[in-house]
Amino acid sequence: MNIILLGPPGAGKGTQAELIEKNRKMVQLSTGAMLRAAVKAGSEIGKKADAIMKSGGLVSDDIVIGIIDERIDEPDCKDGFILDGFPRTLPQAAALDELLKKKGKSLDAVVEIKVDDGALVDRISGRYSCAKCGAGYHDTNLKPKQAGVCDKCGSTEFTRRADDNAETVKNRLMSYYRETAPLLGYYYAKGQLKSVDGMAHIDEVTRQIDQALG
Ligand code: AMP
Repeated sequence: MNIILLGPPGAGKGTQAELIEKNRKMVQLSTGAMLRAAVKAGSEIGKKADAIMKSGGLVSDDIVIGIIDERIDEPDCKDGFILDGFPRTLPQAAALDELLKKKGKSLDAVVEIKVDDGALVDRISGRYSCAKCGAGYHDTNLKPKQAGVCDKCGSTEFTRRADDNAETVKNRLMSYYRETAPLLGYYYAKGQLKSVDGMAHIDEVTRQIDQALG
């Protein structure tokens, strides 16, 4: 099964993608994480993306489409993938349709995680992740079981994203409403959109997603 998680930054797409990955034989594909890795590695793509990501804007469609095109050919995607942060524009959605068709793959569901705008800034400013394995946490909503130790890999090093600051968050929300929110209509019209309540407890959101996926 191949699915998309849609929703504004801070909706919980990454958290839910990690949980779906754990519960089902599917792999999380986060274009944001891939771009951050490219920036860290100093690759050509990373050099192009760095300043745009810091400002909270969107990296060019060509770059992210190219990344996804290559990534879904990898063997770990054969049993299914969860797109987290892609597509983010209508041209990306159209390109995804095309490339899935070309590869003989399907898109089985698009799940919208609905959240109140007021909750987003707080959610984003409290979040951090394990520096080693990338597992996501939050200062109040999702703490590691043992303080200061990653549940997944036991590392004690954590990191916060450079773009998780109040100024950049505003721009990221603007990008979302301008470029990404129209995708809700796009997938609704195609009969693929399902919505879950992203304001519910993390486990309840996972339950609703499971139900939506059947
Ligand atoms: P995320 O981790 O999904 O919040 O993405 C972090 C940043 O990476 C975004 O603010 C964008 O600058 C960039 N980015 C990630 N995915 C995309 C995409 N599909 N299209 C354009 N830019 C993206």
